[in-house]
Amino acid sequence: MNAKIALIPGDGIGPEVVAQAKRVLDKAAEMSGSTFEYAEVYLGGCSIDRFGVPLTDEAVETCKSSDAVLMGSIGGDAKTSPWYRLPPEKRPEAGLLAIRKALNLFANLRPAYLYPELKDACPLKEEIAERGFDLMMVRELTGGLYFGKRYTEDVNGVKNAVDTLSYNEEEIRRVAIRAFDIAQKRRKQVTLVDKANVLDSSRLWRSVVAEVAKDYPDVTLTNMLVDNCAMQLVKDPAQFDVVLTENMFGDILSDEASMISGSIGMLSSASLNDTKFGLYEPSGGSAPDIAGKGIANPIATILSAAMLLRFSLDLDREADAVENAVRQVLADGYRTGDIMSEGCTQVGTAEMGDLILERMG
Ligand code: NAD
Repeated sequence: MNAKIALIPGDGIGPEVVAQAKRVLDKAAEMSGSTFEYAEVYLGGCSIDRFGVPLTDEAVETCKSSDAVLMGSIGGDAKTSPWYRLPPEKRPEAGLLAIRKALNLFANLRPAYLYPELKDACPLKEEIAERGFDLMMVRELTGGLYFGKRYTEDVNGVKNAVDTLSYNEEEIRRVAIRAFDIAQKRRKQVTLVDKANVLDSSRLWRSVVAEVAKDYPDVTLTNMLVDNCAMQLVKDPAQFDVVLTENMFGDILSDEASMISGSIGMLSSASLNDTKFGLYEPSGGSAPDIAGKGIANPIATILSAAMLLRFSLDLDREADAVENAVRQVLADGYRTGDIMSEGCTQVGTAEMGDLILERMG
């Protein structure tokens, strides 16, 4: 196959980790007999330095004309970087929100997986960590409370702030279909997380998702209230396969799920629209404190590249090869500084890339 991939190295450690992920993509192309053509795109602080704005129309067009986008991370140190003396709409993060909107990325996927080799970094009780977990959080990304009408008014001398939580059935259906498609490629369970005992929007989610479930008789649908889910994630995360939820609940629960898996340098993510197109990026930020030192952990970005292979290019075999290579490197005792533990061998960013490439077969 021929695929066009837009690369957004971004700021801080972004260029270092994207360079390693690109090597992994090149290897996957070779293994599958594919040709990947890359287009480099500026976003965030580096775009401000070059073009005066965090995102240009050309950058959006390049991404739109690609099959998928792989991004490092953007932003700098808010205390010292001149980017943060600009008005909010001109700062690096404004570019990130704008590109997600321009690409209509409504489904955010955040896997949370506990590697047996890293279970010491898991903050859960030993007997829970021992069982391990492997879940996929599917969060609606462009609707709900964060995008509803908001205002603050004065009512008889008392300040009153209003945020609106609104969803229509189409917004729910399209992300639910994504979640069920993903569950079919996994352990075939979807847990819909909501607050249906209180919120009308949650009750609409329940009825629309139940309708979608009828088209997936091989997938089991369970409903769970959000407060219970927050507890279950720390009590028994192994029970979850795909967790589907609206924007704000997903914002909070996906960070909780990340936290229990141990290290931010290991966590990938994907944002998808209703085609095969997606934007793939590590869950962490640009880590300005370690940028340029060659010590950043590239695994989250490499696993994001594996998601790109799986979800945008349907190269499941090559995605498996990347994920297995990462597991093997950890089993062989290699670690970057952020996940280092006693008895392991510490390596830098590029060396970690070499070790993963060697194990891809
Ligand atoms: P951060 O995730 O960049 O860093 C938090 C801590 O984790 C730091 O100590 C950092 O060294 C470490 N860390 C993160 N990724 C690592 C990796 N791959 N390897 C080793 N260590 C790693 O969060 P922050 O410091 O709050 O934010 C820094 C900048 O990143 C800010 O400008 C923020 O706005 C931006 N940010 C960008 C994104 C994105 O691009 N999607 C997401 C979050 C934060």
